[in-house]
Amino acid sequence: MSSWDRRIARASELLQSQSSAAELLKFYQRLVRFQKTVYESVASLTEHDVSSLVPHFTGLLTLVKEAGSPALKAAATELEQSSSQDRLELLTAVWQHQAESHELSAESLFFANALLQPFAEYLAEKNVSSTEASPPLCPFCGSKPQLAVLRPEGDGAKRFLLCSMCGTEWFFRRVLCPNCAEENKDHLPVFVAQEFDYVRVDACDTCHTYIKSIDLSKNGNAVPVVDELATVSLNLWAQENNYQKLQPNLFGV
Ligand SMILES: [Zn+2]
Ligand SMILES: [Zn+2]
Repeated sequence: MSSWDRRIARASELLQSQSSAAELLKFYQRLVRFQKTVYESVASLTEHDVSSLVPHFTGLLTLVKEAGSPALKAAATELEQSSSQDRLELLTAVWQHQAESHELSAESLFFANALLQPFAEYLAEKNVSSTEASPPLCPFCGSKPQLAVLRPEGDGAKRFLLCSMCGTEWFFRRVLCPNCAEENKDHLPVFVAQEFDYVRVDACDTCHTYIKSIDLSKNGNAVPVVDELATVSLNLWAQENNYQKLQPNLFGV
């Protein structure tokens, strides 16, 4: 099963059990099916340039107008009027980590990221990186991590960060804040919700950010990006406790 199919299947499983995130999961599942087709189209090309993603806007806008949130639907209607050049500029700004200087809206970021993720994943698969240095940004594409993954090793679990853009996973020390490099464990509280004992909120009292960790030693069926989405209720809890998420997910939460 490809990693895209695993995400689609996991979203179906979680849809059965976690009604609180049902709307988001349904939309996500359709989006991943679409991203899989983008990935396959990128894989079939010999040259890899973000401009090859421009034609896929049409399919994405149609999907969002059918299944997106009201804000995304409105943004899709507006984007339909944009030229190929505008679309290429949007993709390029996000790809070059210039979203902030372009003052892009959350909705524009969504469209760009939805198309760039499968492109970046394809490129990252060609790149095998192993590092023990715990860099805070993706060693392949320089994006922030979306979440942390705990993988069973020996009696415990080793922590990895998962890139929000290209899906690369890299080793990251367990007692270390990925935002401010705090190393004192007394300032790095871990919260676990009763309903999802395999999902943790790893917070930092020094910089007040948090990252969610999916503990695969406790639930081997989890597919980290999907389970992160299905547990958005934990994000609200963290926000109420004055922790800010290190990197919002594709849906801006
Ligand atoms: Zn990356
Ligand atoms: Zn910190």
